[in-house]
Amino acid sequence: MAYINVIDEYKRYHMGDTTIAANDGISFSVEKGEVAVILGPSGAGKSTVLNILGGMDSCDEGEIVIDGTDIAKYNEKQLTTYRRNDVGFVFQFYNLVPNLTAKENVELASQIVSDALDPEDVLKSVGLSERLDNFPAQLSGGEQQRVTIARAIAKRPKLLLCDEPTGALDYETGKQILTILQDTAHNTGTTVLIITHNSAIAPMADRVIRINDAKVRNVTINDEPKPVAEIEW
Ligand code: ADP
Ligand code: ADP
Repeated sequence: MAYINVIDEYKRYHMGDTTIAANDGISFSVEKGEVAVILGPSGAGKSTVLNILGGMDSCDEGEIVIDGTDIAKYNEKQLTTYRRNDVGFVFQFYNLVPNLTAKENVELASQIVSDALDPEDVLKSVGLSERLDNFPAQLSGGEQQRVTIARAIAKRPKLLLCDEPTGALDYETGKQILTILQDTAHNTGTTVLIITHNSAIAPMADRVIRINDAKVRNVTINDEPKPVAEIEW
């Protein structure tokens, strides 16, 4: 069985008399250590899938099997443990703690899990060894996003969930961020999921899951994903 198996997942939102099917029977799988890009236009249902995979929201029906365990069956307490121990989050707008330095932000990981990576080592691996003592406001957008990634991977998560991680960045900086995400997956075995509406980044992924109108329309497997440096958008 694949590392992640989303099986016939449904999520509906009720607004007065209307029901919105945000996910309408979604199924896909992702192998360990892959970069999977979930691609689709705004409103397609991507964030809903990501929130469910991250244990931030629950589905109405279906199985969400991660590393052999169906997290759809978890209670609130189990979901909290899962979010804290197994998932790293990277959002479009870096949610760093403003009054903590880069290093202190990454050190937060060790308050969540007991076997967190050394903050200086992780910050070095994302190219920020010169920025350890800077506060977020003293860092560029790309540097802040790298701190966010460092904090997320310091927990050694099974899954790294990324919501439009380059959305707020310029082109070259965005490329650096995607390179870090690709290297993280391929060098550490962390499974990376990126949701985006930008189809041009698809060649960097091992797997591309196209979602539209709440359904999976197409899944492509790239046997030889391109290094981020070799793609343009
Ligand atoms: P995407 O991430 O692809 O833009 P979303 O998963 O955010 O799509 O949304 C899918 C659909 O579900 C949209 O029609 C959206 O308006 C609706 N939706 C998302 N979250 C909520 C919510 N909390 N309440 C009501 N409708 C929602
Ligand atoms: P806490 O017990 O501190 O409330 P949570 O279980 O909410 O922790 O979150 C655990 C981890 O998941 C933290 O690293 C947190 O940053 C991340 N996380 C969970 N939900 C969200 C969210 N909605 N936005 C940003 N990060 C989140």
